[in-house]
Amino acid sequence: MKAVLSMSISADLLKWYDQHHRRLPWRANPGEKPTPYHVWISEIMLQQTTVPTVIDYFNRFIQKWPSIKHLATASLDDVLHAWQGLGYYSRARNLHKCAQVIASDYGGEIPKEEKELIKLPGIGPYTAAAISAIAYDIPAPVVDGNIERILSRLYTLDTPPKQVKNKLTAYMNTLVPKKRPGDFVQSLMDLGSSVCTPNNPICVTCPIQPYCQAHSKNTVNKYPVKPEKKEKPTKHAYVFLLFNNENKVLLEKRPAKGLLGGMIGFPTSKWSTTEPCVKDLKSSTGKNLVITQNKIKHTFTHFHLFLTIVTGETKKHPSGFYAHPNEYVEFAIPTLMKKVWEKFKAAE
Ligand code: SF4
Repeated sequence: MKAVLSMSISADLLKWYDQHHRRLPWRANPGEKPTPYHVWISEIMLQQTTVPTVIDYFNRFIQKWPSIKHLATASLDDVLHAWQGLGYYSRARNLHKCAQVIASDYGGEIPKEEKELIKLPGIGPYTAAAISAIAYDIPAPVVDGNIERILSRLYTLDTPPKQVKNKLTAYMNTLVPKKRPGDFVQSLMDLGSSVCTPNNPICVTCPIQPYCQAHSKNTVNKYPVKPEKKEKPTKHAYVFLLFNNENKVLLEKRPAKGLLGGMIGFPTSKWSTTEPCVKDLKSSTGKNLVITQNKIKHTFTHFHLFLTIVTGETKKHPSGFYAHPNEYVEFAIPTLMKKVWEKFKAAE
């Protein structure tokens, strides 16, 4: 790609950004210095979650833990609790671990360089580039979902973006200007959210329309090319609502590693690709068990999960604890478990 063309695209985008940038709580205005801590928290929250949802979480989080030092000394349970509802809880666990590493090994300062950032818990190549560019104004080739879409259309890429990551990074390397690289990256993010949207992009107002190959060929709807869809597998399990004689329900803390690690929930049988059976009931710590007709479906990134609710009474339980459902708000309960309780209450 010709350098002059890249410079024109960058210049036009920055001009557009100066007038149309979104105001977001973690973001500095054009020309101002951002707070690296805010950029990092927002980037982690924005993985898998939309901007409107993140705003409230971000504000509450920063109010509670205004600096890395505060976050590093918080308890993991408190952090998971503040994360409740955002999903993908490994992000919260890594965030907490990362704050501790930055506090102890980096004097509380988030590193600037991608190669250093990428060593930290929960920071992959995309997040490292985003922090480097947005927080420190270093020209780094950031490629998120919005940017993938824009580049696919701009250069009519005939392969699904995830399969040509190196190519996209190379395009970004030629586009990111030496001056204001952070604003440039954010201009693409904003363009993707308000103009070059997944459906019905508003090409008529787009500042890079003169350079866009998909627009000039009238093939915008073809891009980005979609990968072949793979069917998600389905898993099944029993979920046990086991009451004690005070009508409290047994809860347990899930193992620290794995899906919903460290979160509080009702016990379940093993999640398996086959329907649960009598042997799965035997492994429970309950008695007088009744398999109900109530099932809930929950979809994770890689599979669907069907949980069948089983009610009963508890036997002695070594590691769990009992709580009245009204107390659930005190714990880091994932959405999946809330769905179970709501389904049970609705069927009562
Ligand atoms: S012209 Fe249309 S398709 Fe091309 S980048 Fe702009 S909004 Fe996207």
